[in-house]
Amino acid sequence: MNQFIINFCLLFTTITLLFLPFRNQPRISLNSKWSIRLILGAVAGLIAVLLMFNGIQIDVARVDLRIVPVAIAMLIGGFPSAIVAGAMIIGTRYFLTPVDQMEGFYLSTLIIVLFITTIGIIRRFVHVSMRHFQLMVLVGILYSLPAIYILTHSWSTFFKISIAYVFFNLLAGFVAFRLLTELRRHFENIQYQQKLAMTDALTGLANRRRLDDSLSLVGSTDQGYSLVLIDIDFFKHVNDTYGHDAGDDVLRQLGMTLASLTRPDDLVGRYGGEEFLIILPSTSAKEAQKIAELARLTVARNLFPTADVPDLQITISLGISHSSGSHTSLEALQQADKALYYSKESGRNRSTIYTKELAFRQA
Ligand code: GH3
Ligand code: MG
Ligand code: MG
Repeated sequence: MNQFIINFCLLFTTITLLFLPFRNQPRISLNSKWSIRLILGAVAGLIAVLLMFNGIQIDVARVDLRIVPVAIAMLIGGFPSAIVAGAMIIGTRYFLTPVDQMEGFYLSTLIIVLFITTIGIIRRFVHVSMRHFQLMVLVGILYSLPAIYILTHSWSTFFKISIAYVFFNLLAGFVAFRLLTELRRHFENIQYQQKLAMTDALTGLANRRRLDDSLSLVGSTDQGYSLVLIDIDFFKHVNDTYGHDAGDDVLRQLGMTLASLTRPDDLVGRYGGEEFLIILPSTSAKEAQKIAELARLTVARNLFPTADVPDLQITISLGISHSSGSHTSLEALQQADKALYYSKESGRNRSTIYTKELAFRQA
């Protein structure tokens, strides 16, 4: 009984600890990469091995909760995961078996192979749920009971052991499934909250916090990078004439337009109000201006239809700065702002690269 409780505690401690490295990974499923499913199998195998080392030895039989991690491996990762876990169990059983008790090893190998084959077939037809998981554990129990009888040779020992065996395996299966589901839900919730905290609610782009984080990150590397700061021209007029909702609609559409023009490593976000910022890592000022001009022309040539105004048009002004890594991202941002100010001053609907002369103009 005590040994079962130790097995029980061991199972949950190891599940909790070994779950942590997986917490930010996408959910593992039958469609996941083979490598991640094999790793899952190895983790489940490791748990099973620890359980076996702390199992109960009665005569030639060894009793523990090893079928639970194998069922978990099969349910989540399918055959590749379960086979790895199974192979580790067979290897450990061989290691733990004295030479004069090899029948125990042969029988337990036969059971684990039968068990994995059966639950593998079941897995093809069921989805991940507590009921189906407990069905798999039950299959493991049903295969193990005859073996426990054969190896203990005594009805009274068999009954004593098997009642605890069935009870603890079913309970462990129930709690293990709940624990995994709760852990998964908890960390997915954290990820979701983190994403929300970094997303602008109106446009779905990066918000100022995310842009600031990314700026300090890009500013701390030696690589050169460019910034493009964008401001809508006479946006107050759009709001005043067509209403705030129309203005919001324009902001959303502009966000999508900018996002569609940038490369995968660039980050577009709403820096505030009607200002957007694009962070372009490893990009020269010239390349940044190409992207800025493309954005400017695309905006100027396209309509931004809203509910009441199908032919609304806007223009944007842009300021570009480049840092070779020698000055801070805050300085780079101030320079982009000066360049943007110059674009506004000199007529709007244009882009300007920051140069030293601009600094003197404003001083
Ligand atoms: P300029 O060409 O000089 O940039 O003129 P502007 O009218 O765009 O400049 P200004 O900074 O005076 O006005 C910005 C306006 O942007 C003021 C505000 O009503 C509007 N705005 C800021 N945030 C939002 C928003 O979230 N939604 C809407 N609809 N309007 C916003
Ligand atoms: Mg503005
Ligand atoms: Mg403006």
